[in-house]
Amino acid sequence: MPVKKTYRKISIRIVLIYVIISFLWILLSDVMLFRFFPKSMFISMLKGVIFICLSALLLLYLMKQSWSVQADLIAKEYVDDLTGLQNRSSLQHILAKIIHNKERFHLLFIDFDRFKMINDLYGHDIGDIVLKKVSDTLRGNSHIKFSDTISRWIADEFIVILKNKSDQEVDLFVSSLLTETSAPIHISDKEIVNHISIGSVHYPEDTIKSPELVRFAEIAAEEAKKNGGSAHVRYRKELSEKANRVLYLEERLKHSLENQELFLNFQPLIATNNHQIIGVETLIRWDHDGQIISPKEFIPVAEKSGLIIQIGDYVLRETCKSIPLIEDTLKKDLCFSVNVSARQFYQKDYIARTKQIMHDTKINPSKIVLEITESIIMEYADFVIESLHELREFGFQIAIDDFGTGYSSFKYLELLPVNIIKIDQSFTQSIDKVRTKAIVQSIISLAHNLNMKILAEGVESLFQVASLKEMDCHFLQGYYFSKPLTLDILLEQYK
Ligand code: C2E
Ligand code: CA
Ligand code: CA
Repeated sequence: MPVKKTYRKISIRIVLIYVIISFLWILLSDVMLFRFFPKSMFISMLKGVIFICLSALLLLYLMKQSWSVQADLIAKEYVDDLTGLQNRSSLQHILAKIIHNKERFHLLFIDFDRFKMINDLYGHDIGDIVLKKVSDTLRGNSHIKFSDTISRWIADEFIVILKNKSDQEVDLFVSSLLTETSAPIHISDKEIVNHISIGSVHYPEDTIKSPELVRFAEIAAEEAKKNGGSAHVRYRKELSEKANRVLYLEERLKHSLENQELFLNFQPLIATNNHQIIGVETLIRWDHDGQIISPKEFIPVAEKSGLIIQIGDYVLRETCKSIPLIEDTLKKDLCFSVNVSARQFYQKDYIARTKQIMHDTKINPSKIVLEITESIIMEYADFVIESLHELREFGFQIAIDDFGTGYSSFKYLELLPVNIIKIDQSFTQSIDKVRTKAIVQSIISLAHNLNMKILAEGVESLFQVASLKEMDCHFLQGYYFSKPLTLDILLEQYK
């Protein structure tokens, strides 16, 4: 403990000085003063007063100095340099203290939804400014009282402790914070979109152990992120089980590439007018110890751990490698749709690496459709529009996947160099409803007006096929025609 050590050193010095002065004074008074004024009470009293005053002043001065040094050291040790909030060790001390006092409190874990992306896109200096702005927002929130604690836990994670508040009061705090932090941040000429997710836990209801409180709140924050973020999730026991599964998958996924456990399935894309195959979408599969794990489960894990970068490269490379065989066997000129996750797309070298794969495999990029979701586009529209133009110029085709599920992108559609819009399967599956049918019809008309192709996903019934044909949807994809197939079965069925 450096603070304690320094304080001890200074205190010992003070005491030593005090002892030396006292000695000198006694020596002086006995030898000198007493000789000249042997019986003077007044002088004796004066001597005492002067002695006390001087030594008190000196002590006061020295103590003050020691305290200011100590305060500086304490500040350094317990305050976060960047934001000026309490830091991790301070929070741990406070937690230990309030748990010891058995005070009731809520602990909230606040995590940026895509901070890594802000750093990747704009650099760390801008990332730091964003962190400071969010800390100021936290500090300025009117629901936080003097007795509450705001701390920066690590990197882009903050922890707030709210004492003696009801669940409703916590909800009020959370919704005000989500609103305040959802406004874009302007730094020089840049508009930075930034969202946070919050997980909360209650002491002593959820656990009484300090490390578990933080871990549980973190797990709840991760859950909040899963459905697009900008949300709050209250911890419940099942979340721990889920989190353990994620940890397990993350660990195993690391070895999946080298163990060749990943492989591709191909789902045919069908022309509505003649039901002929015009292309395939490649969908990844993970054979883990003989059990096929769905990409819905492991892709988010891969995104979180960063493994999606390697996995994404693998998918594109494998797709390219399989193209000559598929086209030769099926005797058709096809297009090959590949899913691109947000985490891949925002990597600085994404375009360079993607071009390199095309170069290595000698496949014409016009054969590849890169499928990106609406959420990728909306968050950083300027950057995305620029990147998409570069990819288009190189020759790739671009599709918007799961259209209609994200934020409305109508505003950007005309600016985006997009070839294909893929209507999300949730619309296809309720196309029998009047309102859904009207929405699907307007998406299809929009695509026609913008000179884009339109594909409906999740087509499972003849009724859906007929409805989509009537609405002039160009392409269809779904179980009605075919489930995703292994390469062998695809070649066998469509040769
Ligand atoms: P997605 O891109 O929307 O892919 C379509 C999903 O719908 C696939 O699920 C497909 O099997 C399923 N599907 C197709 N037709 C029907 C249908 O008629 N009915 C129903 N109920 N489902 C249908 P899958 O293969 O489980 O993939 C799920 C998601 O995982 C994909 O959704 C995509 O977001 C992601 N994904 C799959 N492969 C990759 C990949 O290589 N890279 C990335 N980044 N994501 C991938
Ligand atoms: Ca897709
Ligand atoms: Ca889709």
